[in-house]
Amino acid sequence: MPAPPNGRSLLLTIDADWIPGSGPGLEAFLEVVERHGAVSTIFVTGRFAEEYPELIRSASASGHEVGTHGWEHAWDWSENYRFTDYAYQRERIEKATRIVEELTGRRPTSFRAPFLWVSETLCQVLTDLGYAVDSSVPARRYDGSFGMVDWVRYFTAPSRPYRPDPAHLARHGNGALVEVPPSAFVVPVVMSSIRRLGLGPTLMVARLVAATSPLINFYCHPWEFVEPERRQFPPDAPDRYNDNTGPQWLEPFDRFVAKVLSWGHRPRTVTEVAEAWVGGSFSEHNAATAAGEAR
Ligand SMILES: [Zn+2]
Repeated sequence: MPAPPNGRSLLLTIDADWIPGSGPGLEAFLEVVERHGAVSTIFVTGRFAEEYPELIRSASASGHEVGTHGWEHAWDWSENYRFTDYAYQRERIEKATRIVEELTGRRPTSFRAPFLWVSETLCQVLTDLGYAVDSSVPARRYDGSFGMVDWVRYFTAPSRPYRPDPAHLARHGNGALVEVPPSAFVVPVVMSSIRRLGLGPTLMVARLVAATSPLINFYCHPWEFVEPERRQFPPDAPDRYNDNTGPQWLEPFDRFVAKVLSWGHRPRTVTEVAEAWVGGSFSEHNAATAAGEAR
């Protein structure tokens, strides 16, 4: 039974980039989520799923949503869904989709772009592959030179769920895809804000988001909960990714979840929120698209 569209929701999402050794970070994240009786959405790269099939299978069986996050989220910036062409994007997302479908027995319905680098081409690829939901448009977010979200094309995008215009994702339109934007109020509501600014300031940003939107769509990464010596960033990743990560961040994450739940937000997956918003189920749409492809 879908939740009412105006229900306050907490979306706990995690982007499983392919960083060797980071699997235990996903396990630790899921333990915290489950301790709160909550559900999460795991956006998994194809390569992460190949390396940790059991983890993905059991998370899906426990009621977490498994969406996709590209093939490996390559750190040489080559896996880039802003500027690459349709064929390149489709090939990578199709491979990841197939692996997730094999592991979980369900075709994934949701996607998050590496670095939140989205484009109208990506929107077309996702629609053609039968995806119903994207959760990448960086509404109200600007990192300057501190992060990767340093352009303003999508700054004015809605911060609530909406159907983007396929010709410009920041505008309302009538495309097939539903966008459930990650939360930000200039500063994003993410684990790296908790690690860099602290829990208190990040909760203040979450409060500002909650004042204007029923959703708090939080994200983190498995590698943030793993000591640097246990996991391996590719040599071309910026140094800052190696700083200040490890299991010590599970406790602030746990407190973040407890606090937002205490505001009356209910934990939901990204697809649940999108379905509630459109007032329907995506599984039929999804099955029809998959059947159409098989023909
Ligand atoms: Zn990523």
